[in-house]
Amino acid sequence: MRMDVFDTVRGVQEKISELKQQGYGIGFVPTMGALHRGHLSLVDACTRDNEVTVVSIFVNPTQFNQREDFEQYPRDLDGDIKKLGEAGANIIFTPAEKEMYPEPDNRVFDFDGLDKVMEGKHRPGHFNGVAQIVSRLFDIIRPHRAYFGEKDFQQLVIIRNLTSQLNLDIEIVSCPIVRESDGLARSSRNVRLTEKQRKHAPKIAEAIHKARDLAGDYSVEEVIQSVTEHVNNDPYIDVEYFEIVDEKNLQPIETWDDAYYKRACIAAWVGKVRLIDNVPYYF
Ligand code: AMP
Repeated sequence: MRMDVFDTVRGVQEKISELKQQGYGIGFVPTMGALHRGHLSLVDACTRDNEVTVVSIFVNPTQFNQREDFEQYPRDLDGDIKKLGEAGANIIFTPAEKEMYPEPDNRVFDFDGLDKVMEGKHRPGHFNGVAQIVSRLFDIIRPHRAYFGEKDFQQLVIIRNLTSQLNLDIEIVSCPIVRESDGLARSSRNVRLTEKQRKHAPKIAEAIHKARDLAGDYSVEEVIQSVTEHVNNDPYIDVEYFEIVDEKNLQPIETWDDAYYKRACIAAWVGKVRLIDNVPYYF
Protein backbone atom coordinates (compact mmCIF):
# COMPACT_ATOMS: atom_id res chain seq x y z
CA MET A 1 0.00 0.00 0.00
CA ARG A 2 1.40 3.41 -0.91
CA MET A 3 1.67 6.29 1.52
CA ASP A 4 -0.84 9.17 1.38
CA VAL A 5 -0.53 12.53 3.09
CA PHE A 6 -3.68 14.45 4.06
CA ASP A 7 -4.09 17.85 5.66
CA THR A 8 -7.88 17.91 5.85
CA VAL A 9 -10.19 16.02 8.20
CA ARG A 10 -12.45 15.17 5.30
CA GLY A 11 -9.65 13.75 3.17
CA VAL A 12 -8.24 11.48 5.87
CA GLN A 13 -11.70 10.34 6.97
CA GLU A 14 -12.73 9.37 3.44
CA LYS A 15 -9.56 7.36 2.96
CA ILE A 16 -9.88 5.58 6.32
CA SER A 17 -13.54 4.70 5.87
CA GLU A 18 -12.70 3.26 2.45
CA LEU A 19 -9.98 1.09 4.04
CA LYS A 20 -12.27 0.05 6.90
CA GLN A 21 -14.91 -1.04 4.40
CA GLN A 22 -12.30 -3.32 2.90
CA GLY A 23 -11.89 -4.88 6.36
CA TYR A 24 -8.47 -3.49 7.24
CA GLY A 25 -7.37 -3.02 10.86
CA ILE A 26 -6.40 0.59 11.56
CA GLY A 27 -3.54 1.47 13.90
CA PHE A 28 -2.81 5.05 14.91
CA VAL A 29 0.31 6.86 16.21
CA PRO A 30 -0.27 10.48 17.28
CA THR A 31 2.87 12.65 17.29
CA MET A 32 4.02 16.24 17.29
CA GLY A 33 6.63 15.53 14.61
CA ALA A 34 10.41 16.12 14.67
CA LEU A 35 10.46 12.36 14.58
CA HIS A 36 13.24 10.25 16.07
CA ARG A 37 13.74 6.57 16.77
CA GLY A 38 11.41 6.71 19.78
CA HIS A 39 8.51 7.70 17.55
CA LEU A 40 9.57 5.20 14.91
CA SER A 41 9.47 2.36 17.46
CA LEU A 42 5.76 3.17 17.88
CA VAL A 43 5.32 3.12 14.11
CA ASP A 44 7.11 -0.26 13.96
CA ALA A 45 4.84 -1.73 16.62
CA CYS A 46 1.83 -0.32 14.77
CA THR A 47 2.82 -1.75 11.38
CA ARG A 48 3.40 -5.15 13.01
CA ASP A 49 -0.08 -5.24 14.58
CA ASN A 50 -2.23 -3.52 11.94
CA GLU A 51 -2.76 -3.61 8.19
CA VAL A 52 -2.95 0.18 8.05
CA THR A 53 -0.75 2.58 10.03
CA VAL A 54 -1.94 6.17 10.40
CA VAL A 55 0.45 8.77 11.86
CA SER A 56 -0.60 12.29 12.76
CA ILE A 57 1.83 15.19 12.97
CA PHE A 58 0.44 18.19 14.78
CA VAL A 59 2.12 20.50 17.27
CA ASN A 60 -0.88 21.05 19.50
CA PRO A 61 -0.96 24.59 20.91
CA THR A 62 -3.48 23.78 23.66
CA GLN A 63 -1.08 21.46 25.51
CA PHE A 64 1.75 24.00 25.77
CA ASN A 65 1.68 26.14 28.87
CA GLN A 66 4.48 28.37 27.61
CA ARG A 67 4.17 30.19 24.30
CA GLU A 68 7.95 30.14 23.88
CA ASP A 69 8.11 26.34 24.19
CA PHE A 70 5.40 26.04 21.51
CA GLU A 71 7.22 28.42 19.18
CA GLN A 72 10.62 26.81 19.75
CA TYR A 73 9.30 23.27 19.39
CA PRO A 74 11.30 21.67 16.54
CA ARG A 75 9.49 21.13 13.23
CA ASP A 76 10.69 19.11 10.24
CA LEU A 77 7.71 18.05 8.14
CA ASP A 78 9.66 17.00 5.02
CA GLY A 79 12.14 14.96 7.07
CA ASP A 80 9.28 13.38 9.00
CA ILE A 81 7.39 12.33 5.89
CA LYS A 82 10.53 10.73 4.48
CA LYS A 83 11.18 8.79 7.72
CA LEU A 84 7.57 7.63 7.88
CA GLY A 85 7.71 6.41 4.28
CA GLU A 86 10.78 4.33 5.11
CA ALA A 87 9.14 3.02 8.28
CA GLY A 88 6.13 1.73 6.34
CA ALA A 89 3.41 4.13 7.51
CA ASN A 90 0.43 4.32 5.13
CA ILE A 91 -1.42 7.50 6.00
CA ILE A 92 0.03 10.74 7.33
CA PHE A 93 -2.32 13.36 8.73
CA THR A 94 -0.79 16.85 8.99
CA PRO A 95 -3.60 19.28 9.75
CA ALA A 96 -3.15 23.02 10.21
CA GLU A 97 -4.34 24.58 13.47
CA LYS A 98 -7.61 25.87 11.94
CA GLU A 99 -8.43 22.41 10.67
CA MET A 100 -8.12 20.86 14.14
CA TYR A 101 -9.67 23.78 16.01
CA PRO A 102 -12.13 25.62 13.73
CA GLU A 103 -13.65 26.85 17.01
CA PRO A 104 -11.79 27.17 20.32
CA ASP A 105 -12.00 23.93 22.32
CA ASN A 106 -13.41 24.76 25.75
CA ARG A 107 -13.89 21.24 27.01
CA VAL A 108 -12.62 20.56 30.51
CA PHE A 109 -11.78 16.96 31.43
CA ASP A 110 -11.71 15.36 34.85
CA PHE A 111 -9.05 12.75 35.44
CA ASP A 112 -9.77 12.05 39.08
CA GLY A 113 -6.48 13.58 40.24
CA LEU A 114 -4.23 11.78 37.71
CA ASP A 115 -3.55 15.16 36.11
CA LYS A 116 -2.84 16.98 39.36
CA VAL A 117 0.61 15.48 40.07
CA MET A 118 4.02 15.66 38.37
CA GLU A 119 3.65 17.05 34.81
CA GLY A 120 0.11 18.22 35.55
CA LYS A 121 1.24 20.11 38.64
CA HIS A 122 4.15 21.83 36.90
CA ARG A 123 2.44 22.38 33.55
CA PRO A 124 -1.09 23.52 34.44
CA GLY A 125 -3.60 22.72 31.70
CA HIS A 126 -1.16 20.47 29.84
CA PHE A 127 -3.17 17.27 30.12
CA ASN A 128 -6.45 19.00 29.40
CA GLY A 129 -4.85 20.11 26.11
CA VAL A 130 -3.56 16.59 25.47
CA ALA A 131 -7.06 15.20 26.08
CA GLN A 132 -8.59 17.79 23.74
CA ILE A 133 -6.32 16.90 20.85
CA VAL A 134 -6.22 13.13 21.40
CA SER A 135 -10.00 12.87 21.74
CA ARG A 136 -10.43 14.90 18.50
CA LEU A 137 -7.89 12.78 16.68
CA PHE A 138 -9.52 9.57 17.96
CA ASP A 139 -12.87 10.87 16.75
CA ILE A 140 -11.49 11.64 13.28
CA ILE A 141 -9.37 8.52 12.79
CA ARG A 142 -11.45 6.02 14.82
CA PRO A 143 -8.59 3.52 15.00
CA HIS A 144 -8.78 -0.02 16.35
CA ARG A 145 -5.50 0.49 18.22
CA ALA A 146 -3.47 3.54 19.25
CA TYR A 147 0.21 3.60 20.27
CA PHE A 148 1.78 5.69 23.02
CA GLY A 149 5.29 5.75 24.50
CA GLU A 150 6.14 5.09 28.13
CA LYS A 151 8.46 8.09 27.79
CA ASP A 152 5.37 10.13 28.69
CA PHE A 153 4.19 7.72 31.36
CA GLN A 154 1.66 10.03 32.99
CA GLN A 155 0.18 10.81 29.57
CA LEU A 156 -0.21 7.10 28.89
CA VAL A 157 -2.14 6.57 32.15
CA ILE A 158 -4.33 9.60 31.38
CA ILE A 159 -5.06 8.42 27.82
CA ARG A 160 -6.17 5.03 29.17
CA ASN A 161 -8.47 6.89 31.57
CA LEU A 162 -9.78 9.13 28.75
CA THR A 163 -10.52 6.14 26.53
CA SER A 164 -12.50 4.47 29.27
CA GLN A 165 -14.37 7.68 30.26
CA LEU A 166 -15.43 8.20 26.65
CA ASN A 167 -16.26 4.50 26.23
CA LEU A 168 -14.06 4.31 23.16
CA ASP A 169 -13.45 0.93 21.63
CA ILE A 170 -9.74 1.61 21.04
CA GLU A 171 -6.97 -0.60 22.35
CA ILE A 172 -4.21 1.54 23.88
CA VAL A 173 -0.81 -0.07 23.30
CA SER A 174 2.22 1.15 25.26
CA CYS A 175 5.80 1.00 23.96
CA PRO A 176 9.03 1.13 26.00
CA ILE A 177 11.34 4.16 26.11
CA VAL A 178 13.94 4.31 23.35
CA ARG A 179 17.26 5.78 24.51
CA GLU A 180 20.42 7.15 22.96
CA SER A 181 23.50 4.94 23.38
CA ASP A 182 24.53 6.97 26.46
CA GLY A 183 21.13 6.41 28.11
CA LEU A 184 19.47 9.77 27.42
CA ALA A 185 15.80 9.23 26.59
CA ARG A 186 15.20 10.22 22.98
CA SER A 187 13.17 13.40 22.73
CA SER A 188 12.40 15.91 20.00
CA ARG A 189 13.68 18.55 22.43
CA ASN A 190 17.19 17.01 22.58
CA VAL A 191 18.16 18.87 19.39
CA ARG A 192 17.81 22.12 21.33
CA LEU A 193 20.66 21.16 23.71
CA THR A 194 24.09 22.71 23.17
CA GLU A 195 27.00 20.31 22.80
CA LYS A 196 28.00 20.84 26.44
CA GLN A 197 24.45 20.41 27.74
CA ARG A 198 24.02 17.27 25.62
CA LYS A 199 27.11 15.76 27.32
CA HIS A 200 25.63 16.35 30.77
CA ALA A 201 22.00 15.39 30.03
CA PRO A 202 22.48 11.57 30.37
CA LYS A 203 23.01 12.12 34.10
CA ILE A 204 19.22 12.35 34.43
CA ALA A 205 18.67 8.80 33.17
CA GLU A 206 21.71 7.49 35.01
CA ALA A 207 20.44 8.79 38.35
CA ILE A 208 16.93 7.34 38.16
CA HIS A 209 18.31 3.94 37.16
CA LYS A 210 20.95 3.93 39.90
CA ALA A 211 18.45 5.01 42.53
CA ARG A 212 16.69 1.67 42.14
CA ASP A 213 19.74 -0.04 43.66
CA LEU A 214 19.55 2.18 46.76
CA ALA A 215 16.01 1.05 47.53
CA GLY A 216 17.11 -1.95 49.63
CA ASP A 217 19.15 0.18 52.02
CA TYR A 218 17.38 3.54 52.15
CA SER A 219 13.87 4.90 52.64
CA VAL A 220 11.87 6.37 49.76
CA GLU A 221 12.46 9.85 51.12
CA GLU A 222 16.23 9.30 51.39
CA VAL A 223 16.44 7.97 47.85
CA ILE A 224 14.50 10.93 46.49
CA GLN A 225 16.70 13.34 48.37
CA SER A 226 19.97 11.76 47.32
CA VAL A 227 18.98 11.49 43.63
CA THR A 228 17.78 15.08 43.55
CA GLU A 229 20.97 16.33 45.19
CA HIS A 230 23.17 14.22 42.96
CA VAL A 231 21.56 15.54 39.76
CA ASN A 232 21.42 19.11 41.04
CA ASN A 233 25.16 18.97 41.75
CA ASP A 234 25.64 19.03 38.01
CA PRO A 235 25.95 22.71 37.11
CA TYR A 236 24.04 22.16 33.84
CA ILE A 237 20.97 20.47 35.35
CA ASP A 238 18.13 21.60 37.64
CA VAL A 239 15.65 19.03 38.87
CA GLU A 240 12.04 20.24 38.78
CA TYR A 241 10.67 17.13 40.47
CA PHE A 242 11.70 13.57 41.17
CA GLU A 243 8.91 11.32 42.41
CA ILE A 244 8.34 7.63 42.94
CA VAL A 245 4.69 6.88 42.30
CA ASP A 246 2.20 4.04 42.25
CA GLU A 247 1.71 3.25 38.54
CA LYS A 248 -2.04 2.85 38.97
CA ASN A 249 -3.01 6.16 40.56
CA LEU A 250 0.26 8.13 40.13
CA GLN A 251 0.25 9.05 43.81
CA PRO A 252 3.69 9.30 45.44
CA ILE A 253 4.52 6.27 47.57
CA GLU A 254 5.77 6.72 51.13
CA THR A 255 7.26 3.29 51.75
CA TRP A 256 8.60 0.74 49.28
CA ASP A 257 5.73 -1.61 50.16
CA ASP A 258 3.00 0.89 49.20
CA ALA A 259 2.83 -0.55 45.67
CA TYR A 260 4.50 -3.32 43.68
CA TYR A 261 4.30 -1.49 40.33
CA LYS A 262 6.13 1.74 41.08
CA ARG A 263 7.66 4.24 38.70
CA ALA A 264 10.37 6.81 39.31
CA CYS A 265 9.59 9.92 37.27
CA ILE A 266 11.80 12.93 36.81
CA ALA A 267 11.63 16.32 35.10
CA ALA A 268 14.74 18.47 34.86
CA TRP A 269 15.85 21.61 33.12
CA VAL A 270 19.03 21.54 31.10
CA GLY A 271 19.48 25.21 30.33
CA LYS A 272 16.20 26.29 28.75
CA VAL A 273 15.23 22.76 27.73
CA ARG A 274 12.91 20.75 29.94
CA LEU A 275 13.44 16.99 29.79
CA ILE A 276 11.47 14.14 31.35
CA ASP A 277 12.32 10.51 31.96
CA ASN A 278 11.10 7.58 34.01
CA VAL A 279 11.92 4.01 34.94
CA PRO A 280 9.87 1.18 36.46
CA TYR A 281 10.76 -0.03 39.96
CA TYR A 282 9.03 -3.41 40.15
CA PHE A 283 9.68 -5.05 43.52
P1 AMP B 1 5.49 13.55 20.94
O1 AMP B 1 5.75 13.78 19.49
O2 AMP B 1 6.59 14.00 21.82
O3 AMP B 1 4.13 14.02 21.36
O4 AMP B 1 5.47 11.99 21.11
C1 AMP B 1 4.60 11.17 20.36
C2 AMP B 1 4.61 9.78 20.95
O5 AMP B 1 5.94 9.25 20.89
C3 AMP B 1 4.19 9.77 22.42
O6 AMP B 1 3.36 8.65 22.65
C4 AMP B 1 5.52 9.64 23.13
O7 AMP B 1 5.42 9.03 24.40
C5 AMP B 1 6.30 8.77 22.17
N1 AMP B 1 7.74 8.92 22.38
C6 AMP B 1 8.45 10.08 22.38
N2 AMP B 1 9.74 9.83 22.69
C7 AMP B 1 9.85 8.50 22.90
C8 AMP B 1 10.92 7.63 23.26
N3 AMP B 1 12.15 8.07 23.48
N4 AMP B 1 10.65 6.31 23.39
C9 AMP B 1 9.39 5.84 23.18
N5 AMP B 1 8.35 6.60 22.84
C10 AMP B 1 8.56 7.91 22.71
